[in-house]
Amino acid sequence: MPNLIDGRAIAQRVYADLRRGIAELKSKGLMPGLAVILVGDNPASRAYVRSKDKMCRDLGLHSVKLELPGSTTQTELLARVEELNRDPSIHGILVQSPQPKQIDEAGIVRSLDPRKDVDGFHPANVAKLVIDDPSGFVSCTPLGVQRLLIESKIDIAGAHVVILGRSMIVGKPLALLLMQKNKNGNATVTVVHSRSRDLEKITQSADILIAAIGQPNFVKADHVRDGAVVIDVGINRVEDAVSEHGYRLVGDVAFDEVSRKANAITPVPGGVGPMTIAMLMSNTVKAARQWLSPT
Ligand code: NDP
Repeated sequence: MPNLIDGRAIAQRVYADLRRGIAELKSKGLMPGLAVILVGDNPASRAYVRSKDKMCRDLGLHSVKLELPGSTTQTELLARVEELNRDPSIHGILVQSPQPKQIDEAGIVRSLDPRKDVDGFHPANVAKLVIDDPSGFVSCTPLGVQRLLIESKIDIAGAHVVILGRSMIVGKPLALLLMQKNKNGNATVTVVHSRSRDLEKITQSADILIAAIGQPNFVKADHVRDGAVVIDVGINRVEDAVSEHGYRLVGDVAFDEVSRKANAITPVPGGVGPMTIAMLMSNTVKAARQWLSPT
């Protein structure tokens, strides 16, 4: 049986550290604050926003949840972002995706004050990731994957990391993060995507294989070499007549067969998912700290 990388337990360790950091900031008169904007009534987004708000409250952070109608215009949304940019009680702003079709998401991201962009999508923060500037914000899922590896004492330096997927939310920033020239990086990174040739040959050469493609159970035992570490970012709904909601969540990795070959593996749910929200809280505390002593 491989080592199961328990994202929930590791997230709890992150929260324990954060509580100490938050107490220290409060002793200096600063209460970190996060604002989350939800436009429309996508049920999954609503659930995510609810859990972010709950986590803020559990940690004793100032939390603002703005729920706007699905008919909100670009101009109206920009105005709300601008208010939050100017609000001194707010250190982090997140506009939940996906947004309704009349909204230009890239335009909204660019309107954020980069110092409050705790999702790490603003071009200024992407640039800081590229140039290894640690004052920037890195998007939460890649940061969570890196933290899982570090806390599980898996050597990143020198390892061949193969990432399946090149999205701006996961694959691309994760590749940049793990190849950074610092003690938590230094990996040899290969990114594969839907146009890659010989995908299976490439994934078989991975010391660490990270799947982020949104294809249920895509990664099979044949994709993985014996003893590899496998991180499953995927969250996919598949029909399941016997479950209460008629579906269940599975990852991008066929867990049962791959876990027989892997040295360590994350489950879905309970692997990367809990780390994403922990890293959002961590970025919010970092934003508040930087507000107190700008770099
Ligand atoms: P996107 O759809 O934005 O990107 C998917 C990527 O996978 C693309 O680069 C695409 O290639 C590639 N891809 C798709 N199918 C294949 C295939 N058959 N072979 C090779 N590459 C393929 O997805 P996201 O990055 O947003 O999300 C990926 C998964 O991670 C989803 O299941 C999502 O739910 C989950 N997720 C989980 C999070 C968490 O907190 N755990 C957070 C964010 C996402 P191409 O570029 O060529 O189209």
